[in-house]
Amino acid sequence: MNHPPRRISLEDWDQRYAELVDAGLHEPAYGGPLRRHAESGDRRLTRLQLDNSAAALQLWNFLLTEEQRLRQAREVGWQILGTVKDLGTIPVMAYALRRVVAFYPDGAWWLPCLMEDQTRVLQTADSLGIDDSFCPVRAMLGAFANQAHFPLPDLLTCSVGATCDDVSALAQRLERMGHPILWWEVPHRRQPEPGEPAIPLPGGFHAPACQVALVQAELTRVRDALQAWSGQPLGDRQLRAGIGAANRVRKLLGELRWLGYTSEPCPLPALEMLVAEMLAIHFCSDQPESIHVLEQLLAEVRARVTAGLGVLPKHAVRVFWVNPVADLRVMNLLEDVGGRICGTEYLFCHALDLIPEDLPPLEALARCALADPMVGPPQDRSQRICREIRRFGAQAVVISRIPGASHCGLEGLVIADMVRDRLGIPVIEIEVPPITDALEPSLRTRLEALIELQKR
Ligand code: SF4
Repeated sequence: MNHPPRRISLEDWDQRYAELVDAGLHEPAYGGPLRRHAESGDRRLTRLQLDNSAAALQLWNFLLTEEQRLRQAREVGWQILGTVKDLGTIPVMAYALRRVVAFYPDGAWWLPCLMEDQTRVLQTADSLGIDDSFCPVRAMLGAFANQAHFPLPDLLTCSVGATCDDVSALAQRLERMGHPILWWEVPHRRQPEPGEPAIPLPGGFHAPACQVALVQAELTRVRDALQAWSGQPLGDRQLRAGIGAANRVRKLLGELRWLGYTSEPCPLPALEMLVAEMLAIHFCSDQPESIHVLEQLLAEVRARVTAGLGVLPKHAVRVFWVNPVADLRVMNLLEDVGGRICGTEYLFCHALDLIPEDLPPLEALARCALADPMVGPPQDRSQRICREIRRFGAQAVVISRIPGASHCGLEGLVIADMVRDRLGIPVIEIEVPPITDALEPSLRTRLEALIELQKR
């Protein structure tokens, strides 16, 4: 760490990359200057402030070469599994198989932001009848239709039951477009009745034993289908190894989040922390490499913390962030106005919880699937958010609404009320579309007001 940690522009990264190369930077095959991603379409990079470490360079290069990685997998004959609306369950099973790669097609929702809408995936979705009354996940439909991004998966899975209307409608449309889907069900999680057998879930919730058994049966059906599809055994031995590897990712993220969100000064920007957290969902299509990328990032953060160095001034206001942003630029904006992230709930906190290793593997995965904050009542999600706010010591909360999202019409109000009642800290709700440039002055003002309120 011979350069003080800083957030720098893409232009500054040109110079920084040349210096790192001169100093003997060792890069993986997907490495290279960040500039090339902007030149080949990811134009939003030119508007972002990025961490200046070699570890962050590797993180961004890993993220932005995922489509390439999937195409290479196809070229060498690997099987490709698309796991729709599955934030971290089926990929754990899929990565226990050899020569199989699983990815999350819903991740296309960041394409309109990263490519500043040149892809026209949203317009394609419009033309297919899925307009902006749906959340930006409709970009996935455009990406399937224009086939200009990820290769078409050999098999698609999608969870149903306690699923938002957006994904439910989109997945049905995908199937009608000729992409067969292996559906599996997760019921709406309910409180166990008095006297009813209850099972603890990762993350602190409980579910009735019959619901855990139902999801376990569904995952058994998926397991059988994956065995038949891949021609490989996927028994308890393989699944235990898969769970162990997924937990390695989750442990690394656990320490990274703790150091990143509690150390003073802030050791890693919000944007890189967001990208790192996302690796938990499907390992960015390469599980061993995602472990390596996270190890590098964690080493950088540990070194910064030990040296007392950070990327933001000391005592930035500590903000807990709820929901992922459709425009990555907004994570910069929070820091520009004097805030920093101290805890997050990006809709996939269950993919960060450790998977129990002392249970039959499919039961352990069933418990994790039922721990998804989106399959239970918003009060449960709000309680978990309150616990996490206390744990990380946040001073304020931003609830970032997702335009058109059916899951969160009123959920933000439930969360905000509970946070104010229980913790007495300020909460604001903002709406973040895929490109916020036109809204930036008003978003800035609202975030500034929150930060000023806490500074007094
Ligand atoms: S953001 Fe909400 S509405 Fe959109 S896909 Fe995710 S859970 Fe569904």
